[in-house]
Amino acid sequence: MLGKLFLFILFQILASSSSSSEEDESSSESGNKGEHPKSSSHGHWNYLDQDAWSSDFQHCSGQSQSPINIATRQAIFDPQLPEIKLEGYDLSDSELLKLVNNGHTLQLNLPDTMRIVSGFDNIFLAAQLHFHWGTIEAPGSEHTIDNVHFPAEIHVVHYNSKYHNISEAASKLDGLAVLGAFIGIGLHENENYEKILSSLMDVSREESDTEIPGFNVRNLLPNKLAKFYRYNGSLTTPPCYQTVNWTIFNDTITVSRKQLASLEDTLKAGLDQHLTKNFRAPQLLYNRQVMSSFRAEPSSTGPQIPSYPDSDGQSKKGRTINEPAYSKEVLSRGDILAIVFGALFTVTLLSFMIYACQQRKKTLSLKKDTRQNVIYKPATKEEV
Ligand SMILES: [Zn+2]
Repeated sequence: MLGKLFLFILFQILASSSSSSEEDESSSESGNKGEHPKSSSHGHWNYLDQDAWSSDFQHCSGQSQSPINIATRQAIFDPQLPEIKLEGYDLSDSELLKLVNNGHTLQLNLPDTMRIVSGFDNIFLAAQLHFHWGTIEAPGSEHTIDNVHFPAEIHVVHYNSKYHNISEAASKLDGLAVLGAFIGIGLHENENYEKILSSLMDVSREESDTEIPGFNVRNLLPNKLAKFYRYNGSLTTPPCYQTVNWTIFNDTITVSRKQLASLEDTLKAGLDQHLTKNFRAPQLLYNRQVMSSFRAEPSSTGPQIPSYPDSDGQSKKGRTINEPAYSKEVLSRGDILAIVFGALFTVTLLSFMIYACQQRKKTLSLKKDTRQNVIYKPATKEEV
């Protein structure tokens, strides 16, 4: 029993050290420059020449661009931020939703019966959701938390109900509200994400689409929506209109490694290129402030709910399980645990060796006794 426990602990220590080395490797990834050739067949812009976007789309060089890095220490706690309440997200499976590979992302069109009824001055109606992702080597969220990318990010795009449609709203100052959440890697398949990902093969070609049955779209977002960051930003793709009221949830969602790999590997942009690394680099904050609906103190409990770690601002990109990054605090805690377990392991090993030595001695003396018995037995018999 004790042996099993220590084997388990040893395994855990080994596993954690291997996962942190994986992070170190991916941290060498820089920006969007990659091995993928330029893909220009699907429009006038692509992710490999982001610096050139502003020559065709003037808003892209504005001072309220998205995504941004969220420095958790700098976020201002605003107790007045109203809670986000969603309605109509639980769609009937008789309602068919259009799933599209538009060459830039995987997009699911949503009915305007889905809405944000609390959280903003007006009601906002859903239009579509889509994803941003990287590759197996490089995480591909758009927003970063203390300079850490997550494997992927979901955006649920809503428009202000005071406008007729999203096209009209998109260029208006109070036109859009996007709910963003980070997607991490967990141990189990996410059955809610599977409702979309199971149809990936049907939209592998650029500009292809399919229809999928409605489901509870709420389940694509984190369980708890109470903790979020809020700031004014833009569309993260051209024409980069600076009209988005951004909500980035603190809690994350997880999908399995296999599910994320299917997103990274299945879709094509153009004829022969993989649709990957469809994320824009974080933009300068300028004079904007990021508000938060919660106090930034790191919580001491709640392993599933990451309390985003402090960082000195150095860029660490990491593919992680459940949590976005290992903070210094978590690392030092991990170190302490490792030392404690290491010490326990050593003590047990020593105890085991001492025990083994004693057993050996006993066995030897027993054997001696046995031999002696063998010698004396016949004599005893003779005596009888
Ligand atoms: Zn997006």
